[in-house]
Amino acid sequence: MPRIAQETVERVAAASDIVEVIGSYFPLKRAGTEFRALCPFHQEKTPSFYVNPAKQSYYCHGCGAGGAIFQFLMQYENVDFPEAVRRLASRAGIPILESEHSAEDEARQNLRKRLLRIHFEAAAWFHQNLLRTRAADHARAYLQSRGINVEMAKRWQIGYAPRGWGSLIAWAENSGFSRNELLESGLVKLKEDGNRNSRIYDRFRDRLMFPICNDIGETVAFSGRILDPAAKEGKYVNSPETALFTKGNILFGLHQSKRHIANAREAIVLEGQIDLIMSFEVGIRNVVAPQGTALTERHATLIRRFADQVVLFFDADTAGQKAGERALEILFGAGLQVKLGELPPGEDPDSLIRKAGGKAFQARVELAEDFFDFQVNRNLSFVESKTTAGRIAFARKMSQFIRAVPDPVLRDTLTSRLASRLTITRETLSQMIFAQARHSGTKTLREEVVTNPVVMPPHGLAVICKAALTIPDLLGKIRQQPWEAILRQIEGGELLSKIFSSDLEPNDPASIAGLFATLPQPEAAALSAILANKELNEHMGERFWIELAQVEIQRRKQQLENVQRLTSDDPIAYRQATEELKEVLDLQSRFTDISRLPRRAP
Ligand SMILES: [Zn+2]
Repeated sequence: MPRIAQETVERVAAASDIVEVIGSYFPLKRAGTEFRALCPFHQEKTPSFYVNPAKQSYYCHGCGAGGAIFQFLMQYENVDFPEAVRRLASRAGIPILESEHSAEDEARQNLRKRLLRIHFEAAAWFHQNLLRTRAADHARAYLQSRGINVEMAKRWQIGYAPRGWGSLIAWAENSGFSRNELLESGLVKLKEDGNRNSRIYDRFRDRLMFPICNDIGETVAFSGRILDPAAKEGKYVNSPETALFTKGNILFGLHQSKRHIANAREAIVLEGQIDLIMSFEVGIRNVVAPQGTALTERHATLIRRFADQVVLFFDADTAGQKAGERALEILFGAGLQVKLGELPPGEDPDSLIRKAGGKAFQARVELAEDFFDFQVNRNLSFVESKTTAGRIAFARKMSQFIRAVPDPVLRDTLTSRLASRLTITRETLSQMIFAQARHSGTKTLREEVVTNPVVMPPHGLAVICKAALTIPDLLGKIRQQPWEAILRQIEGGELLSKIFSSDLEPNDPASIAGLFATLPQPEAAALSAILANKELNEHMGERFWIELAQVEIQRRKQQLENVQRLTSDDPIAYRQATEELKEVLDLQSRFTDISRLPRRAP
């Protein structure tokens, strides 16, 4: 794991105003001393997502999401902590010192940079080949036949990989890339699989090249489409997985379409790159295409960042069948609603657009039906079956999808609707849904990714946490006390221990953000919930702390005195208890002395 110095983290935190950063993703409305918005992490109609500038934290009263700016970026952009710090650092113009990385991290970072560079330059080279070279005549003709003109080719940086085994290698050597970098980029292949010393050759030959970008628009891989219809190779060849590219992580086109998806709160999932490009170019722009794989959980989470709903398309002949039940469960599990659309038999979005224009495809998008309605309407023989068995069979099939829906309200609505449509009781259907859940025992994606498990400390501890972060002198005072010994056996005291042992300066937003940065997500969420909770009176914090300590010391004292009584005939155990009691009495005197110290003058 790359490590970034806490000092840098705090500098980045100090330079990043949470209101400004979150406000750059979606609009925030002032609400008293805080800012408010519709929560991006769950569906809601009235805003319960609050951003607090004084405490540089956010909190959602609806779903419990919360933390400081780093946690927000981690949750919203789906990145890990170091990456969140890096993105904020580059936003704020703060360099992350190389010396802060271990040699290994540094090597990995450097390789990543070089791989981004080679992809960036190779994309430009392929593109120039397409536009300028005679060798690409047939590639240009092919594009024209597919209705892709020069402007479109430029917008998507479509390219051409020349025929021959070493064209790219020659270019790369000329451009100063090493053999190792070429190998790591996946642009070349080894003649003998697994033997890194064997000769290398171009992976992509005589192919139309589509750069594959991550969501911030960096080229991380390529997809090459075959041009020679007689060739025996695969229609598409994709880059292998590399340090830059993990198939299940990338949605083709997302860097161009994410704004449109966010505006529509809906994403249309298409199969191929050309479908996506054609749709985008005729003005239907809220589109994505999984790259080189079936839809993964990671894809669904990525879509969920921008959309509440997805539209999937099928060929009319195979409607609903080809959907891939796993993909549907993944989408439902991510909290997305699913609509299904149909295309005329034998058509894909690309061919439909070419034959009948963008409006024809647009009409198909508008006709897409809610998944459950779609299924009911296409399975009427089951739905209206005279035999209970037929209807139950259909209910069983549908319950697997209802079960995956994480939102309880939506799940209830779906259950009721389906039950009444199938004329079976709601109870029977619910039982079916939960019986299956028990059997399968699989965790839904929602549980893994979307929910925010908040581990709240008990009330008294929560008040002390809040006080430590907001009452100026308290933390310094507690730190002089034997707090560690007191908290050791207190259930739920972990968060408090972390606060006391940190180098936090109360009321310094950057320092608070720095503390947040060290906490795992559930604790960060708990802490931001505590800070946001107006019912916790921080002015009671000091009294609660003293009481907590006194009660705890008293408890241990009594416990040990009991042990002494019970072990009067067991000298070893008795001596042990006596020693421990001495420690507790010592703790008591130390604590009492200190807690009676007068408050230092400010
Ligand atoms: Zn929320």
